[in-house]
Amino acid sequence: CGIVGYIGSEDTKEILLKGLEKLEYRGYDSAGIAVRNEEGVHIFKEKGRIADLREVVDTAVQSHAGIGHTRWATHGVPSRYNAHPHQNEYSRYTLVHNGVIENDEQLKSEYLLDVALQSDTDTEVIVQLIGLFAKEGLSTEEAFRKTLGLLKGSYAIALLDNEDEETIYVAKNKSPLLVGLGEDCNVVASDAMAMLQVTNQFVELMDKEMVIVTKESVTIKSENGEPIERAPYTAELDA
Ligand code: GLU
Repeated sequence: CGIVGYIGSEDTKEILLKGLEKLEYRGYDSAGIAVRNEEGVHIFKEKGRIADLREVVDTAVQSHAGIGHTRWATHGVPSRYNAHPHQNEYSRYTLVHNGVIENDEQLKSEYLLDVALQSDTDTEVIVQLIGLFAKEGLSTEEAFRKTLGLLKGSYAIALLDNEDEETIYVAKNKSPLLVGLGEDCNVVASDAMAMLQVTNQFVELMDKEMVIVTKESVTIKSENGEPIERAPYTAELDA
């Protein structure tokens, strides 16, 4: 029931795990992180507590970009295979999602009949659609936007692209999500509290916006792809 993301000069694992611990108060049944480095994306996930997730994280894997998730199951039992992050069929995209996709069954039967689904979640539909549209020739940004346009329901999403080490894609609708501006890094979080360890400068996101986050920049775009300027606010440090 919470999302974190980090891209920047520090190693991500501990930042993501600490961030997830700050979100524990929201309740959850499983947790996971995906970290990106020159070898590709490494996923660690586990049913249970963040402490259980810590046990399975390979401390040797260094990375400068990653996303993390605590899950409160709505579709599919709490289990390791239903825990986020989820990947698309050919493992190019890795995604975490909070919320509920109401038209997941319809999207499955309309677009994904030929895709071997790997979980019982509504979430997997999102990442499989992005993968499908990218395979059909769209850029990641276009595939992401097209997918968001098809979703009914609530979502906070963070997405990694295996072919692009420099970017985290984010979007939200009726679920909270903030972007934080750091020094030599940028972050994503459901609640500023999770990332006060890194920065106190946050930018609020509006429903249906998507954001392209790199180490150096945060680009907010409207549903139609128009760039949007928005000043950050200072989050209270004693939260
Ligand atoms: N609906 C998704 C699932 O069941 C996400 C739940 C959440 O918000 O953690 O996996």
